[in-house]
Amino acid sequence: MKKKPSVAIIGAGLAGLTCGTALKGLVEDLRIFEKNVTPGGRIGCFRAGDYEFNHGAQYFTVNNPLFWNIVSAWQTEGIVRPWDGWIVELQKGQVTNSDMATQRFVGVPRMLKVAEQLALSCDLVTSVNISEMEQQAGKGWRLFNERGDYQGAYDIVIIATAAHQVADLCRSIPMISKPAENIDMTICWSGMFAFEKALNIPYDAAFVLDSPLSWISRYQVADAANDADCWVLQASPEWSQQYVASFRGRVMHALLDAFWEATDLGADKPVSASVHCWRHALPINPISEDSLFDESAAIGACGDWCTAPRIEGAVLSGFSMADRVMKYVHKHYD
Ligand SMILES: Cc1cc2nc3c(=O)[nH]c(=O)nc-3n(C[C@H](O)[C@H](O)[C@H](O)COP(=O)(O)OP(=O)(O)OC[C@H]3O[C@@H](n4cnc5c(N)ncnc54)[C@H](O)[C@@H]3O)c2cc1C
Repeated sequence: MKKKPSVAIIGAGLAGLTCGTALKGLVEDLRIFEKNVTPGGRIGCFRAGDYEFNHGAQYFTVNNPLFWNIVSAWQTEGIVRPWDGWIVELQKGQVTNSDMATQRFVGVPRMLKVAEQLALSCDLVTSVNISEMEQQAGKGWRLFNERGDYQGAYDIVIIATAAHQVADLCRSIPMISKPAENIDMTICWSGMFAFEKALNIPYDAAFVLDSPLSWISRYQVADAANDADCWVLQASPEWSQQYVASFRGRVMHALLDAFWEATDLGADKPVSASVHCWRHALPINPISEDSLFDESAAIGACGDWCTAPRIEGAVLSGFSMADRVMKYVHKHYD
């Protein structure tokens, strides 16, 4: 029997972490590289002084039976819970609809917890931006960061980043780079605001119609350092596209104005105000292939851009990737 292969995963979002935890123990040496200081990617947590916000994914829904099983296990571990918030639709300051039927889940105490928990059982290296991959003559890949520093050689490489980064990293593998470069992504400006006194808003979150905003949500975290009323405002893709090159201050004021208009409240001064532009927020045209793997080059790719633009899509893509790698390992190493 041949020695088990070594595997590098590039990207510690939910797709990469799911793939990594599923492969644990089945391969010789598995390392996940993440360019940010924390794992999580688009389920990130934004901190501004004493205040914190889920500024990416707000909640998740479950449709697929496999994902149900995973979410049940997460519930048992205490890292997610059903979200029983009151969610409405808003149009020009009026509540037009109430959505209590959809079952939604959130991370406990914050969305990021799911990624942090998965990362605990992985060999994760953060603050390493893999910028170049060199295919070796025999088999496998050598990885380098953006300064050209060598990051090791691996038999199998999985790229678990957003689609544009996949395309940049593996131009020499058209069966992966071509579909990845055809993915279009939405842009999303997120605004994070904290108010000293609670705003007079009875609902917890709202889908906003006819507004620069598409979503607003009160952010409550169990272990918060203060009792400020924290709100996350997400602009619509169209508005975000229009304002993509605008100054942050201008965007901040525009988002706040839209918030007061949507909620029909008088303006209040936040004690903390920040904005973040997600330049690659959601894939518009996922490829519907779960994951991609080129056996001859031992390289694969996964992420929400393969399946569906949501947490469920990222997790299922990561699982599909792990399944393909396992089959490859049985075929070539057993
Ligand atoms: C504003 C916003 C709101 C959303 N709302 C929801 C929601 O309410 N519900 C829902 O289900 N989904 C939502 N989503 C979508 C959800 O967050 C994503 O579908 C999911 O998190 C994608 O996971 P992923 O692992 O595929 O990619 P990512 O989370 O993008 O992970 C990729 C990781 O790769 C890292 N990386 C990239 N390039 C490199 C490199 N060269 N070297 C090393 N590391 C690298 C990145 O830093 C990142 O951590 C939202 C997304 C955004 C942006």
